[in-house]
Parts: sequence; structure tokens; C-alpha cells
Amino acid sequence: MDKIKMTTPIVEMDGDEMTRILWQMIKDDLLLPYIDLKTEYYDLGLEYRDETNDQVTIDSANATKKYGVAVKCATITPNAARVEEYHLKEMWKSPNGTIRAILDGTVFRAPIVVKGIDPCVKNWKKPITIARHAYGDVYKGSEMKIPGPGKVELVYTAGDGSESRELVHDFTCPGIVQGMHNINKSIESFARSCFNYALDTKQELWFATKDTISKKYDHTFKDIFQEIFDSEYAEKFEAAGITYFYTLIDDAVARVMKSEGGYIWACKNYDGDVMSDMISSAFGSLAMMTSVLVSPDGNYEYEAAHGTVQRHYYKHLKGEETSTNSVATIFAWTGALRKRGELDGNKELMEFADKLEKATIDTIEGGEMTKDLALITTIPNPVVLNSGDFIKAIAKRL
Ligand code: NAD
Repeated sequence: MDKIKMTTPIVEMDGDEMTRILWQMIKDDLLLPYIDLKTEYYDLGLEYRDETNDQVTIDSANATKKYGVAVKCATITPNAARVEEYHLKEMWKSPNGTIRAILDGTVFRAPIVVKGIDPCVKNWKKPITIARHAYGDVYKGSEMKIPGPGKVELVYTAGDGSESRELVHDFTCPGIVQGMHNINKSIESFARSCFNYALDTKQELWFATKDTISKKYDHTFKDIFQEIFDSEYAEKFEAAGITYFYTLIDDAVARVMKSEGGYIWACKNYDGDVMSDMISSAFGSLAMMTSVLVSPDGNYEYEAAHGTVQRHYYKHLKGEETSTNSVATIFAWTGALRKRGELDGNKELMEFADKLEKATIDTIEGGEMTKDLALITTIPNPVVLNSGDFIKAIAKRL
């Protein structure tokens, strides 16, 4: 059999710990036998990040800007314990944060829906994709504890020195205060990424804030989305047969619970932080969530939503058997291959991505799965496979 040819490389970002082990297995058993795989390889494993003073992370993000499609393995974000464990020169920043800052994108997280791994919300039939705005608000807030009586004001000093003021509160007793911001440019990028991704995946887009209470802050989000939609996307949405829907956040939450799924829910930074964990746990497992960073100028970086599965890695190092779920990492690869195929007009590559996803889902629905899924499945007598055998079972179906 001739292997599938590729014309443009995918940017490959290798990672750490157990997911690095899965990464190689996926390539060896599921990709290399079928595809003449073209990648530009960047080793984002912590040792090499340290060796290159994290330059490799920056290079990989710039390569993504050049080629348009990347696939990333989970990576360690160092903390004090990791600095000691890996004898690091510095506590390097989160690679995802660095990449996101360079690509300026929005992260879309979606569950992989499989029969037999049923969501707790019984009417959810299709995935709900969360788009989280990843800039500003409470994450870049300034706060103060107010010790006693006194006035707190917001003060804006313009370039020419003129001031405008807004009273926050006239305190008569101790309390607390918080100031936060966002910038129109970032909200515009967020809106465009959401509209583009909705068109890309042919799904409805929902967006919700608390604009009835926050008449300037949240209302600006609402207005920017509406202006960009009306001027740049309304016709394209109509042609694609999808809609953009704005509502209040409390109404959105109520509708989400009663919905079937099958749409993108765009959330402000904090709402997205909270809601994405609700969605992933309600759909069953963090190991079944994919994640894609979409930049407003059309670059895509695919990854699993989970981390490096550190606990399994230490077992693996001790020579013990692991049963680590590789589904989200496989779907990161299929996402990247499909997008690369789409951009290059490479139908075979797109079809291969579909087949690999189907083989993965069929394997689980056929009763063969990793331990995390076996614990929650409604399929009777599931066969629990170890990390390698699960991937081999998928290869057999493929
Ligand atoms: P984790 O996602 O690796 O694990 C969290 C829990 O979920 C664990 O109990 C684990 O057993 C379970 N789990 C997650 N994925 C699984 C899978 N594929 N199969 C079976 N079980 C799975 O998160 P953590 O333990 O908090 O972090 C470990 C490391 O991962 C940290 O160093 C952190 O910095 C990093 N991390 C990276 C990313 C990323 O690169 N996107 C995201 C989160 C955490």
C-alpha cells in the first residue's frame, strides 16, 4: 500500500512524561504505517526547553505562524518542585501561555462523545464546545483591602493629563475593592476567532455576558461581537446555515442544561474557566477533551486538554503497567491532519483523519478501553487495556 503523501509539514511539538510516551506510540502504530508524515519537529520536553532557555517554545510558535497548523503534546508547566526535579535554570513560563501570546488566539475545548460513556446531563447528545477568552478581566485585576472609612474612585488620566473619575464606593467601614480591564483589540480577536471557528465546524455560536448589570464593561463585549458579526460574518453564517445567538449568561446556563449540545459557547475569561471544567466533568472525563487554539488570522494548534499524567509516568518509570487514555492526544493529531488536508486540498489526509477517529471510537464502543473509561462506562464487562495495547487495538481496527 502506498502511504499518504503530504505537501506541507505540520508543526510537531513534543512534550513531557506519560503523554510523551503515548506520543511516540501513536506515531509508530497509528500514523507512520499509513502516512508519509511530514512534520517540523520541536522538542518542548522540559529538558530541552531548559537547554535552549525556552527559545524552542518561541520557535515552535513562530513556525505555527509560518505553516498554519501545529499539534502539541502536553507539557510540564514548571513550579518549585519541578525546578528541583529537573535542575532547571529558571522557572520557565507555561508553554501554552507563551504560544498563546505569540499566536493571539482563542482556545476551543470540546468533549469526544462516545456511546457508553454517557454525560451526566442525559439530554446532551452532541458535544458542547467552550470558547474561552484568554485575556484580562479578573485575571489581570488589581485589588485592595480597604481598612476603614474612605472613598474609592476609578481615575482615568488621558495623554493630555485630563482626568475622568467614577465613584466605586464611599466606604464607612472596612471592605474590599477590585479593578479590572480588557482591551477592544483583544475582544475583537476573540470574536473573530469564534465566528471563524463556528464557520469552520458548521456549528451555531452562542455568546453570553451580564450586560444588563454591567452596562459598560460587559455591554462592550456584546456590542463588539454584534458589530463584527453584522459587518463581516452575517452573510457567511447565512450561507452556512448557522446562527449567532446572544443572551444573558444566566439564561445561557439554563438553556445549556436543557439543550442537546452541538454548538459553540463563547465565554468571557472567568466564565470559560469555570464552565469548561463543568462541561468536561459532566461529559465524563478530562481524558476525552480536545483543545484547539485558533488565532484570528487562521493558525491552528491542536492538543489534548489534559496534562502530562505525571502519576502514570512515575509508574511507567518503575516498570509498572499503565492504562493511560490516549484518545484526546489521538484526536489532537487527527484535528491537525484534517486541517492540514483541508488547507492543502489533500482529501486522502482528511479521510485518514476521519478513519482514525472512527477506529478509536469503535474500539471503545466495542468494549475495549483504558481504565479511566472502564470505571465510568455503561458498557457491560469492558476489557481494560494497558496504554500500548489500547493503541494497538485501535491500529487493528484501522
Ligand atoms: P493531568 O491532566 O495530567 O492529570 C489530572 C488527573 O486526571 C490525574 O488524576 C490523571 O490521572 C487524570 N488524567 C488526565 N489525563 C488522563 C489520561 N489521558 N488518562 C488517564 N487519566 C488521566 O494534570 P496534573 O496532574 O494536574 O498535571 C500534570 C502535569 O501536566 C503538570 O506538570 C502540569 O503543569 C501539566 N499540564 C499541562 C497541560 C498542557 O500541556 N496543556 C495542561 C494541564 C497540566
